[in-house]
Amino acid sequence: MSRSDELFARALEAMPGGVSSPVRAYPSVGGTPRFVREAHGSHITDVDGRRYVDLVCSWGPMIAGHAHPAVVEAVQQAVAGSTSFGAPCEVELRLAEAVVARMAGAVERVRFTCSGTEAVMTAARLARGVTGRPLIVKFIGCYHGHADSFLVAAGSGVASLGLPDSPGVPQAIASDTVALPYGRLDLVAELFATRGEQIAAIVTEGVPANMGVIVPPPDFNRRLAEIAHAHGALLVQDEVLTGFRVSATGAWGLTGQRDGWTPDLFTFGKVIGGGMPLAAVAGRAELLDQLAPLGSIYQAGTLSGNPAACAAGLATLGLMDSDAYARLDSIAEQVAGIVDRALDAVGVAHRLNKVSNLFSVFLADEPVVDFASASRQDRAAFSRFFHAALDAGLWLAPSGFEAWFCSTAIDDDDLEVIEKAVAAGARAAAQAQQD
Ligand SMILES: *Cc1c(COP(=O)(O)O)cnc(C)c1O
Repeated sequence: MSRSDELFARALEAMPGGVSSPVRAYPSVGGTPRFVREAHGSHITDVDGRRYVDLVCSWGPMIAGHAHPAVVEAVQQAVAGSTSFGAPCEVELRLAEAVVARMAGAVERVRFTCSGTEAVMTAARLARGVTGRPLIVKFIGCYHGHADSFLVAAGSGVASLGLPDSPGVPQAIASDTVALPYGRLDLVAELFATRGEQIAAIVTEGVPANMGVIVPPPDFNRRLAEIAHAHGALLVQDEVLTGFRVSATGAWGLTGQRDGWTPDLFTFGKVIGGGMPLAAVAGRAELLDQLAPLGSIYQAGTLSGNPAACAAGLATLGLMDSDAYARLDSIAEQVAGIVDRALDAVGVAHRLNKVSNLFSVFLADEPVVDFASASRQDRAAFSRFFHAALDAGLWLAPSGFEAWFCSTAIDDDDLEVIEKAVAAGARAAAQAQQD
């Protein structure tokens, strides 16, 4: 029995499923998760002393690699002066100013929270509060955290897709969220034509990446903004995953910033906290200033904007200059190419979906454009791919519905490990499809 197996057996007796977040328990690939001892740069070391090249990056935040000296030093300095004040502090202000500066006119105010879930929950409350309307429109397969309004894929269309609502989400809340298939502007327009006066906001991921990466149809987010605005509703662009990752200014940088339009509200998380519990809702002053204390829409947090998390975020953003993004894009290009070629070499049908440095590889023989098509990927083959790659030293997300996250710490030696591990994974997937 490995030390990981021992710890996991113990964890099952102390924590539900042995984990603090479900995907960590390998529910979709099987097997037992490996416990991590430490991580440096592009490498994770487990409690059995095995080392992996990390392509999960804590689900996004570790964009500059683990334990980067600049981040470690900033956090150490911060915590030496206490981990939380429950009062304003300068590093918090500096991070807010950095976000405003980076988002070049799209963001005037930033309210920090401790998780992306809270940030999106706050954005929804703000949208409902300022419009006085109840409905939120979301897309099936987009993840916006685990607040009640967003664990909902309401309506019979969703039931027929087999997406269960979570028990514990009240029907009254579920019925105020409308979920539509991703990419279907016609259905969005139809919904607004019939219920437009009740809709507070459309909430969408900057680039969907939580059903695997889906490439938005051309101008999709801009069209959503136009439809929403035509009916007095808001567009909330959830950039918890894409913010400060897919470009220096996130998904907006690839679309709105280029084309001259902005969503009404943004949510950020993951990279903005550099691996500490930190997220934010952000946007125009006119909207954000309606939050308490200036406005009547309530939102708060004991640990929000705490100095340690803000220091980690500020140091991480400081590392991510235009050279760093260029390097990240190039690394992602190389890794995606490796996977594409390895699967070609063994004849496993696949689809590579990629938006700048964010990509997914679906073991599928049809284009993957939404949750329904993503669900038709060969999950059994992916499980075999995952475990073979893991055994060969590659730390991948344990599900075919996730993005591959690169960091700027990946070097040529890592690319060699990736190449070998992916080849092993591809052979295992090919075998699975023949069995
Ligand atoms: C991760 C994620 C969230 C939730 O963030 P947490 O910090 O896990 O609560 C929300 N939206 C998107 C797009 C995400 O990827």
